[in-house]
Amino acid sequence: MTEYEELLENYHENKPEDIDKSERLEIPEPRINIQGGKTYIKNFKKITKTLRREPKHLLKFISKELATAGNLEGSQASLKGKFKKRQVKKKLSQYVKEYVICDECGKADTKLTKFKGEQYKRCEACGARSPAKQI
Ligand SMILES: [Zn+2]
Repeated sequence: MTEYEELLENYHENKPEDIDKSERLEIPEPRINIQGGKTYIKNFKKITKTLRREPKHLLKFISKELATAGNLEGSQASLKGKFKKRQVKKKLSQYVKEYVICDECGKADTKLTKFKGEQYKRCEACGARSPAKQI
């Protein structure tokens, strides 16, 4: 076996583990900054990128849940009023449960789709489709 083949074999052996790792969704810790009566989520874009969701969609959810107004400002988001990191984190995990994680298999490989005017979360891993409330 050449060195290259050996490398290739090792690569394949290690692969399943790598896949498992990428399937576990880790929500980035929100970086909160309160300034001038507004709460900024500094790494908002990074969070939505990890969740593979539209920043607008997540912001709409959070601001509705916290009953305030939200704005996208570059890579960050701002919420009117002062909110604790704990509150933001709680809303983030609610969002993930509702709009990202598959109800059937628990994976994060889902997409939001519309079907006959209803919004669904469709799983690319197991094919399940579950209703996701419109915000
Ligand atoms: Zn699934």
